[in-house]
Amino acid sequence: APYQTVDVRELLDSTLIMLGRKIGDDIAVVKEYDPAVPPIPAYAAELNQVWTNLIDNAVQAMGSKGTLTVRTSLDEDQVQIEICDTGPGVPQEIRSRIFEPFFTTKAVGEGTGLGLDISWRIVVKKHQGDLQVVSEPGNTRFIVRLPVQPAVE
Ligand code: ADP
Ligand code: MG
Repeated sequence: APYQTVDVRELLDSTLIMLGRKIGDDIAVVKEYDPAVPPIPAYAAELNQVWTNLIDNAVQAMGSKGTLTVRTSLDEDQVQIEICDTGPGVPQEIRSRIFEPFFTTKAVGEGTGLGLDISWRIVVKKHQGDLQVVSEPGNTRFIVRLPVQPAVE
């Protein structure tokens, strides 16, 4: 399917609704949406898969309690989307490996180790964007950057 012009905020909201039961009542959800963010050319279903993977990880990292922050901002020619959690963080010694396929620290049946690999491929390969993590205990941010101009075909 060709790319569409998508409202990132709408995609994030629909993913949050889809994951409502998993997020539960003891995780606070904070939305910080920058009204300056314009619609962008993107593959909506694939981006929803990215938000699902990142929010899934955030919720799993926090366990039953914490704060999930979903933030958007405009940085020159890129839209930045951050999925932030208050969990224990990504240990420094595994940080270079978490985007590798099948890398997981979760028990069998709880994680396939494919979520970040798939997300990276969608963001970087399919949208010519960027996916990074900044993490310390109590504050982990997965940062997606997507070009405002069509870079996809
Ligand atoms: P999976 O969730 O199936 O383990 P992912 O590719 O989604 O696979 O994530 C790989 C690993 O990265 C996880 O097993 C975990 O160790 C780490 N990770 C991902 N997101 C977070 C997060 N928000 N907080 C702490 N660790 C994380
Ligand atoms: Mg995962």
